[in-house]
Amino acid sequence: MSRRQKVCSMCGKLLALSAFHRNKRKKDGRDPACKECNNRRQRLAYAANPQKKIAQTRRYHLEHPEWSKERLRAHHVAHKDERYQRYVDRGKDPRIAAKRREATRRSESRRRALKRGLEAELISEFQFALRLEEFDGKCYICGEILGADLHWDHFRPLTAGGRHVLSNLFPACDLCNVRKNSCWPFTEKRRKEIAEEVRALRKQSVSKPERR
Ligand SMILES: [Zn+2]
Ligand SMILES: [Zn+2]
Repeated sequence: MSRRQKVCSMCGKLLALSAFHRNKRKKDGRDPACKECNNRRQRLAYAANPQKKIAQTRRYHLEHPEWSKERLRAHHVAHKDERYQRYVDRGKDPRIAAKRREATRRSESRRRALKRGLEAELISEFQFALRLEEFDGKCYICGEILGADLHWDHFRPLTAGGRHVLSNLFPACDLCNVRKNSCWPFTEKRRKEIAEEVRALRKQSVSKPERR
């Protein structure tokens, strides 16, 4: 038998050395079983007890941090397109799309404040959720229950020196938000006017609902 070939201990086939994984602990520097047999054995072991294999892999990652980092980075790069496709597919769910739009609006309004050199807190999604609860999930101008149309209005507009802090952010529907715009000072009289206008508009368009 040539030194470039050996017999697999599992399938008994005579194969090129390159068909065997390297193994420093073996005399000939190769595993006794061929790669194909090894892979099959590992697949069977995984099918029999996936949790065990997952725990082993996790341990190996923890014990080899440098290797792990490189491995995860390579995986990240190799699966870029699939990941993006999954992101796009999830976005087809209207609820997720609405959530994303709201998150974009939130970060854009913070960016606008920072651009003006104004104080702008980094506010977590959880803080926003609590803030919305303070208003019972309703638009502070017209009182409509908010859904996909939720906007965070700077009560005192940034243009009037308002700050991007939670206490200056009020939940509003898009109809009210666009009408209030950068009105300042925002009087109770003006709030009522907008509310009436928006409610009338909603009544008109009852036949063609605008909200999900
Ligand atoms: Zn084999
Ligand atoms: Zn409203």
